[in-house]
Amino acid sequence: MRSNLFDLTGKSAIVTGANTGLGQGMALALARAGADIALIGRSDPVETLEQLDKIGVKSHFIKTDLSQSDKAQEIITEAAAALGGLDILVNNAGTIKRNEAINFTVDDWDNVINVNLRSLFFYSQAFAKHLIAGKKSGKKSGKRSGKNSGKIINIVSMLSFQGGIRVPSYTASKSGVSGLTKALANEWATHGINVNAIAPGYFATNNTAELQADEKRNKDILGRIPTGRWGDPSDLDGAVIFLASEASNYVQGITLPVDGGWLSR
Ligand code: NAP
Repeated sequence: MRSNLFDLTGKSAIVTGANTGLGQGMALALARAGADIALIGRSDPVETLEQLDKIGVKSHFIKTDLSQSDKAQEIITEAAAALGGLDILVNNAGTIKRNEAINFTVDDWDNVINVNLRSLFFYSQAFAKHLIAGKKSGKKSGKRSGKNSGKIINIVSMLSFQGGIRVPSYTASKSGVSGLTKALANEWATHGINVNAIAPGYFATNNTAELQADEKRNKDILGRIPTGRWGDPSDLDGAVIFLASEASNYVQGITLPVDGGWLSR
């Protein structure tokens, strides 16, 4: 056990969709805690890579569209080779389509489910296979010592708890991931892999730009948040470092809300 339970020095983390928003914030938080970072996404994360460089950790970017999951194992292997092992996977990339359920198209349904749920499962599976294979061969896949060999952190939503409005595929995907978090925690705890989720409340990012721009929705949302403000990506720093670090070694299958009090209202 380290003297600083939250220290990630020498650990390696993958963060998906980290060119912007919450993924960027969490990648930088993990790096400031000491972790090397692999970024996986479809847009070049120029700003994030610059910031990681300034922090002074090793980084690596792998370009891929996460609506497809067929290359998951290959990509996990590349990330592990680039960083010299893997310890943490943050499944952050996500997308949303807004429309009345009655008018929802097959494409709007499939795209959201593929990115938010299907791909998240196959990347988690590839990450777990990598860690388990490393353990069997006696080689450490990551640099984590003792019984805990890896951490998976899924980014879900208030819509893992509630129904939402005009976002049926998003609600289905985020509720699905919350259930999957528990299912994978049950199966992989014996391999020393912790699987948990963070449910951000309403954060000011591209994902919520339409809501922020809608005067009525913006007012309604702010009026319901006890803290009285939209979340800032840095508000997730503590939660992601906690779930990535030894401090959470006995925490399994939870969905941790970071929501300014939204759910307690
Ligand atoms: P964001 O700024 O739009 O970030 C979403 C990230 O996912 C971007 O990097 C985006 O890449 C990536 N992505 C989307 N589709 C992809 C695809 N097909 N292939 C590869 N990457 C893809 O929004 P955000 O708010 O930071 O969202 C991050 C996560 O937090 C999402 O899972 C979202 O559902 C969740 N979340 C957000 C809030 C909130 O209030 N903002 C609340 C709860 C949960 P591009 O830039 O290329 O599109």
